[in-house]
Amino acid sequence: MLSTMQDSPLLISRILHHGTTVHGDGEVITWTGDEPRHTPYAALAGRVAQLAAGLRELGITGDQRVGTFQWNNVEHMEAYLAVPSMGAVLHTINIRLFPEQVTYVVNHAEDHVVLVDATLLPLFAHVLPSCETVRHVVVVGADPHAELDFEPPSGVRVHHYEQLLEGRPTSFDWPELDERCAAAMCYTSGTTGNPKGVVYSHRSITLHSMQVGMTDAMGLEPGDLSLAIVPMFHAMSWGLPYAALTMGASLIMPDRFLQPEPLVEMISRLRPTKAAAVPTIWQGVLQHLDAAPADVSSLREVLVGGAACPPSLMRTFEERFGISIIHGWGMTETSPLGSIARPPATVSGEQRWAYRESQGRTTAGVQARIIGDDDEELPRDGKSVGEIQVRGPWVTGDYYDPHGLERAENAAKFHDGWLRTGDVGTISPDGYLRLTDRAKDVIKSGGEWISSVELENLVMANAAVSEAMVVGVPDEKWSERPLVAVVLREGAQASPEELRESLRGSIPDWQLPEHWTFIEEAPKTSVGKFDKKRLRQSHTEGTLT
Ligand code: ADP
Repeated sequence: MLSTMQDSPLLISRILHHGTTVHGDGEVITWTGDEPRHTPYAALAGRVAQLAAGLRELGITGDQRVGTFQWNNVEHMEAYLAVPSMGAVLHTINIRLFPEQVTYVVNHAEDHVVLVDATLLPLFAHVLPSCETVRHVVVVGADPHAELDFEPPSGVRVHHYEQLLEGRPTSFDWPELDERCAAAMCYTSGTTGNPKGVVYSHRSITLHSMQVGMTDAMGLEPGDLSLAIVPMFHAMSWGLPYAALTMGASLIMPDRFLQPEPLVEMISRLRPTKAAAVPTIWQGVLQHLDAAPADVSSLREVLVGGAACPPSLMRTFEERFGISIIHGWGMTETSPLGSIARPPATVSGEQRWAYRESQGRTTAGVQARIIGDDDEELPRDGKSVGEIQVRGPWVTGDYYDPHGLERAENAAKFHDGWLRTGDVGTISPDGYLRLTDRAKDVIKSGGEWISSVELENLVMANAAVSEAMVVGVPDEKWSERPLVAVVLREGAQASPEELRESLRGSIPDWQLPEHWTFIEEAPKTSVGKFDKKRLRQSHTEGTLT
């Protein structure tokens, strides 16, 4: 028997309509380094329609791809809304990829138009000649009356964003699409091999936005002001732009001002209630606050994920500033919110911390299991360690492969309809995930495993340490041993022996690392995570001291 419910498709154009009418008094605030720009949600509707009309004029039809090469700002938000709503597909390009990777993703996605921030034009101009399908570049944020210092390759036309919108109708006849159609795509940052394209549907984005807004996730509501530090090219800014519009929460977009100093200024001046970013951003903010104290008391909760959040960071934020760091786990492939670490209501004290430091419980709609080496599902006993696999309505079931060239390689990332996450960990009887490591980062020493993440967290708990990275390095006797690369806090001193001794008692003695190196700065990936590949490479090349 079918239900009696109306079959109303879940579309981005509905999020647009809802957010800009019901929550028209919400706003996007774009940081400029000077006076911030305020755009009420109500004012977005007309501009989004104008952008859609402008893109039509440039020939965008059907499900053609429109790339964005932009910072987090209101114009990027306009693209987030216009492109999928008109039936085209938004491709958020990671501006920090290596040039050959940018070319790869643009060609793979077959972008026809790319919106490029004026400050990033020199970077994009460099790759444009090898982008085979791009016909139009729309420059955002440049003075429309000034000449652009940019000569496009033949066959490519250049436009000013504001001129593309100017004079166009402020309403658009948004098509009634199938909710399962592609709305947006994002490539994984490709820590190994070529980036892989994940294609989100209108349905998956809508469901995911509702989840992000719920109280067991970010708990967004009108009156909230959320600082979206996580880039809009990194897993759709963790769903914040769409979730904020859905729930009526306002947004602060930091544009290109992602250093600790302007971030702290944004917090103390604009007084956000919530924020989201990877752990390394908060390490930087903390260091800055140590040197130049500021009022960050408006922040109540901060969503941290993308990499394991060091418990010491969570505790420091709570104890010094009263800010709760909420730990979440996810991947580009999971839209990205997969699990969130809110403890059960019945626990208190240290027990609460144990839950908060885990990767948390899966969100409604996402299922998780752990699979052992022989492909058998392992018990949820909090002890059995295996690969985490997930499935659900906002988990990808494949990678984008328009010409069927990567079929075998892609199929290997799935198992019976479940996504193999490449993360290793346990699930407790009450459903909490605890990641020990990424499969490729686990250190295999003498037939036993050492968790690089656990070691990093323990070293970072030392007051002298600002950042610590751990990778496995080859060892004749044990096959691999941990190497710890440490960034000391400014003015702090510690010897390898002292650091090693401080770990004694917290881990079995055989795990105590004997290889230590001190570095000025931890190498980071294009999305701000510790770049272990580069650290391993430096070790192999002998460039570490
Ligand atoms: P990339 O693969 O380029 O890093 P993603 O952002 O998609 O891009 O990375 C997803 C991965 O990040 C996960 O598979 C996991 O290894 C790691 N990750 C995300 N959140 C957490 C977390 N809370 N704790 C530990 N690892 C995490």
